Parts: sequence; C-alpha cells; structure tokens
Amino acid sequence: ATPMSIMVATGRGAHAGVLIRDAEALERLAKVDVLVVDKTGTLTEGRPSLTEVVPGALPESEVLALAAALERGSEHPLAEAIVAGAEARGVEAPEARDFAAVTGKGVTGTVGGRHVALGNAALMEDQGIAPGDLAARAAELQAEGRTVMFLGVDGAPAGIVAVADRIKDTTAEAIRGLHEAGIRVVMATGDAEPTARAVARTLGLDEVRAGVSPEGKGALIEELQRGGRSVAMAGDGVNDAPALAAADVGIAMGTGADVAVESAGVTLVRGDLTGILRARRLAEATMANIR
Ligand code: ADP
Ligand code: MG
Repeated sequence: ATPMSIMVATGRGAHAGVLIRDAEALERLAKVDVLVVDKTGTLTEGRPSLTEVVPGALPESEVLALAAALERGSEHPLAEAIVAGAEARGVEAPEARDFAAVTGKGVTGTVGGRHVALGNAALMEDQGIAPGDLAARAAELQAEGRTVMFLGVDGAPAGIVAVADRIKDTTAEAIRGLHEAGIRVVMATGDAEPTARAVARTLGLDEVRAGVSPEGKGALIEELQRGGRSVAMAGDGVNDAPALAAADVGIAMGTGADVAVESAGVTLVRGDLTGILRARRLAEATMANIR
C-alpha cells in the first residue's frame, strides 16, 4: 500500500476509535484467520459485582468479612467487586497481615491469627483444601456464568463468594460479524472451564480454553499459528501482554492496562470489539487498492 493510502486508512480508523500503529499492523489485519479473545474486560465489561455469598464451615457474614479483608490488599477487578460488595452489605473487613497475591489463582494472608486463602480450585489444591460440599454449589453458580472463589480458613473450606460480569452490549454483534468474515473466534481465560463455557455458549464462540495462565495464552497463540494460520489476539490486561506480543496482530482494549496497549498493533479506544470489523474492512480496502 502507498504511504498515502495507509495514512487515509489509519486516519479513518482513528476517527472511529480504532488506533492502528503502522502499515504492518494494517496489512496483517487483512489476513487474520483466527481471533483469540480474553473473557474478562474484553468480552465482558470487566466490572464484576458480588452476587452470592455461600456459607461453608463459617456463616455468610464471616465468609464475606474474611474475603474482603484479603482483597483490600489486591488490585484485581475481582478484589474490587468483593470489597465493594462487603461495604454495600454493611460487612466490616478486619485487618489482614502477610498478604500475598498468587497470580492467576487468588490471594492469601493472616486474619486474626487464622490462615486465610481466597481463590480458584487450583489455589485450594495448593493449600491442601478439598471443597467438599461446596463443590456442587460452585458448579451450579459457574453454569450460570459466575466467577466462583473459594474461601479456605486454617485448611478447611469455609465458603464461596461469586461475582457476575456483564457481557458488553456490542460483543454479540462483533462475534457475528467476525464469523461472517470467516474468522474463527477462540476464548482464552484464566477463569474456570464451566464459567467460560457458560459465557461462550451465549455468544456462539468456536472454541474455549479455560484455566489458562498468561504464559499459556502466549503458547496458545503459537499453537494456533502452526500450520501457517494468521492469529490475532484481543485483550485488556497485564495477563494478556505475552499473547498480544506473540500474535500476528495484537488488539488492546483502550479501557484496559497500559502494558496491553503498549504490546498491541491495534487499540480499540472504547473497548468495543466491533472496531475490529471496521479496522479489517479498512485494511482490506487499503490492500485491495495496491493489488
Ligand atoms: P482472567 O484471565 O479472567 O483475567 P486471572 O488470570 O487474573 O483471570 O485469574 C484467574 C483466576 O484466578 C480468577 O478467575 C480467580 O478465580 C483467581 N484469582 C485471581 N486473582 C484473584 C483475586 N485477587 N482474588 C480472588 N481470586 C483471584
Ligand atoms: Mg482481561
């Protein structure tokens, strides 16, 4: 493409809220076969809110108090949901000590002399805690698309907190358009498989990879690239940076983390996935002009 036609295309993109880094990103966008999308903050709003507190060995109010005590130390969107949820329900969070965040799994610490852990099934396994009776309730909530976190206290399953995150209004339309353009759409998320499947089902995604670490998202891109397919990745978080960098085209949500934007060739300013379709049409038109 000529420098002029590229300038026109990137200018039009910018006007529509789609920032295209350079000619290479534009060219690659026209050739994409597969799009990998992160769930939280990309398909969904990324502003989860607390929906259920399930008592286990401890009563509901104590489950929420201990969960909020730990999450006060975390900057994860899930943490904000729990802290805000506790406040809204008038539950006071005690002081936590020895706070530690376990990436992709959850948080741990000491509250009132008790060892407390909050996170996914993998974190509970690390802590030597079997969910017991809570497993069935967790599965029910996950089937409704909830993100479920187990609370473990001194080695015992104490309860569950669950949050919901709305799917963005524009997501379904974007997926339909991508399919019409012949692009396969694969979800990659750190969340649990049943939750991921529940969200994917309503959107008609082609494939779901759940329980994926940040490095795992990068490895997935490389796996899909084998056989010569051109793979784009759309994500918003720090945990998406390796995948955004590995992809043929990295697409960042402008509403997400700075590091995601820095790793990407395309930025969707308002975090609206339909921008990918707009950008692809621009790319195709620009490339068609030079052939
Ligand atoms: P995602 O890909 O959805 O952004 P992450 O890789 O950040 O997810 O986290 C994966 C899972 O680890 C979450 O679904 C949650 O179960 C657990 N987790 C991570 N951080 C926290 C936290 N601060 N509190 C509770 N659970 C957490
Ligand atoms: Mg995300």
